[in-house]
Amino acid sequence: MKITIFGTGYVGLVTGACLAEVGHNVLCADVDESKIERLKQGIIPIFEPGLETIVRDNFNQGRLNFTTNAREAVEFGDVQFIAVGTPPDEDGSADLQYVRAVARSIGEAMTSTKIVVNKSTVPVGTGDKVQAEISTALAERGLSIEFDVVSNPEFLKEGAAVNDFMKPDRIIIGTTNPASEKRMRELYAPFNRNHDRMIVMDLRSAELTKYAANAMLATKISFMNELANLAERLGADIEQVRIGIGSDPRIGYHFIYPGCGYGGSCFPKDVQALHRTARDVGYNAKLLAAVESVNDRQKVKLFDLIVRHYGGQDALAGKTFALWGLAFKPNTDDMRAAPSREVMAALWGAGAKVQAFDPEAMEETQRIYGQRDDLLLCGTRDSALKGADALIVCTEWKAFRAPDFALMASALKEKLIFDGRNVYDPNRLAEDNWLYYGIGRGLSI
Ligand code: NAD
Repeated sequence: MKITIFGTGYVGLVTGACLAEVGHNVLCADVDESKIERLKQGIIPIFEPGLETIVRDNFNQGRLNFTTNAREAVEFGDVQFIAVGTPPDEDGSADLQYVRAVARSIGEAMTSTKIVVNKSTVPVGTGDKVQAEISTALAERGLSIEFDVVSNPEFLKEGAAVNDFMKPDRIIIGTTNPASEKRMRELYAPFNRNHDRMIVMDLRSAELTKYAANAMLATKISFMNELANLAERLGADIEQVRIGIGSDPRIGYHFIYPGCGYGGSCFPKDVQALHRTARDVGYNAKLLAAVESVNDRQKVKLFDLIVRHYGGQDALAGKTFALWGLAFKPNTDDMRAAPSREVMAALWGAGAKVQAFDPEAMEETQRIYGQRDDLLLCGTRDSALKGADALIVCTEWKAFRAPDFALMASALKEKLIFDGRNVYDPNRLAEDNWLYYGIGRGLSI
């Protein structure tokens, strides 16, 4: 099948590469010229396990190509995927300008019938807007060419994106058009062999399904963080509570880790956008507002613990903190809305310095912050500790889980850890006279 993908970010590039990997012919289009240039040279702009190999292989075999030419892209695919960003607008709603721009490009250039598949996360009703945008552009050219708009929200997880796309839990297709459904079944058949994972529904329900999934996951995290803060005040250990409740199959162990807040490009913006959508239809979604505000509070939690430990913000001036984990979660270099950013900003505001290390996000950190006197980017986990007053853990990378505590003790000025992901065992650390602060662990407070 000939497929065009608009957008070569986390979703577009993974989608394009995986569709090419199973034999489709794919053309990926982006407005970012340098990104496309680098992709043509085999340079992958993001870190995503397994992605580089399949991009290179399929590019070399001619099944995956890249362009900045929208007209060429529209001409190429019978199926046109929209996988561009939908960042939050000032009022929290999803900014649809990039989705609309792609729809316009399609309407301005199409000469044959197309299926337009929206993979971006978009508010309910966007399918109609895409339809209208294409129809208007076609009408301006005095043409009436048949096309159909389908919703196909993406559920991949950054850090496991290729695997998630290759072995999806479900493939949601929003269409009531039998011909489009048939075509989508054909397109996804290589990923759907073991058992039928395709769930077909109407377009608006498909659009809402994506927001519902992310809002549910964000709710689980905020719920656990709320309980963690309570546990701390009650002298209980949230980690034991987590294991206690996870054993109930109705609750389960997945996604109930307390921590220093959720970040990334999806949860914060999608919860906000769904909240905004609710307001637009006259509904006050109280739970969504609470999920958001609990998370906002949680993102300053580590800083609060630090301030509390030192007896006030003023005491932080001149101190140096080692910070492990800059990406918003392990196995990615994505730092969008990462809790580490909030912690660093607060420390800098108080006159402290940061010595930071992340296994994959150093380049991204450099890109975001450039050169600053109060940020030292360290080449290794252990070098970040040298001479620092304390260690802060913001991301639970595997490489941080079993560090050499003796070496850490000799590198740090004090045996002091602020653990935003509850990676370490407070009892074990207490035996070695470490001062340890976790999230919601009564033992340490
Ligand atoms: P991204 O910011 O990484 O990439 C978006 C790309 O689109 C950029 O390269 C940008 O240059 C390009 N673009 C913008 N306008 C364009 C145009 N007119 N034509 C062609 N390209 C254009 O975004 P992402 O993380 O891949 O997310 C894309 C969408 O998928 C969003 O709606 C997001 O919410 C959703 N989503 C993301 C994830 C995730 O984990 N990142 C998961 C599921 C869904």
